[in-house]
Amino acid sequence: MKYIDPHIHCVSRTTEDYQFMARAGVVAVSEPAFWAGYDRSSADSFSDYFRHLLEVEPLRAARYGIEHFSWLCINAKEAENVELSREVINLIPPLLDHPRVLGIGEIGLNKNTRNEITIFEEQVDLAARHDQLILIHTPHLHDKHKGTAIITSILKNDPRIRPGRVLIDHCEEHTIKMAKEAGFWCGLTVYPVTKVTPQRAVDLLEQYGDEMICVNSASDWGESSPSMLIDTALEYRRRGHDERQTLDVFYNNPCRFFGQCPKWKPRPLEL
Ligand SMILES: [Zn+2]
Repeated sequence: MKYIDPHIHCVSRTTEDYQFMARAGVVAVSEPAFWAGYDRSSADSFSDYFRHLLEVEPLRAARYGIEHFSWLCINAKEAENVELSREVINLIPPLLDHPRVLGIGEIGLNKNTRNEITIFEEQVDLAARHDQLILIHTPHLHDKHKGTAIITSILKNDPRIRPGRVLIDHCEEHTIKMAKEAGFWCGLTVYPVTKVTPQRAVDLLEQYGDEMICVNSASDWGESSPSMLIDTALEYRRRGHDERQTLDVFYNNPCRFFGQCPKWKPRPLEL
């Protein structure tokens, strides 16, 4: 079986994780720009981070036969600092033609504050002006429902945004319907402790159908693991879905969403 992890923060992962992914059949990954675990002190820090995403990780991944692509943005948490955010946003346009950039992400909200919303809108505008795909981070726990509602309404009210070119990530039982009904792609993040478990992810796949859903591990510096993606695929198989369906969800779906960007390489496979 071949897999794609559509959301993983390789900068925070070890070489053993790359080895694990290669052994498990992961052939491509996409890495959104995110919060480093501390607030960065200047836009220069983001310049270096973007260089790491575009130059270092693709080389690390290639050693294990894995294709690596990235998304650029300022994350929702640091977007609270509007001045810094605007400096970071100005760094992005010259990088959008880079062969490893898929679009703008992961943008969204963290605590649903006014400043976060301002910077979210400015990054949606950036994506629209440059015709970029968008990857959305939705808030954690009790902020998630309200945050997802604010995000989807901003996107729906912008006539330049086509929902099929946006993925709303970290969907859960109480938010997936909002995203799906508006025609957006949905991401399910499978974590060992928070977010959804493999069982809950498969319940959601069975309830909402396989189309326009991407399952990811969103592995970062916290409690998370690239193995959660594989565990979810195994749970999906255990419930009686065949190899063709599993390939469709865990490989072809990410290819379909990312493939809207001509730089994405893997193509959907037939079994
Ligand atoms: Zn993330």
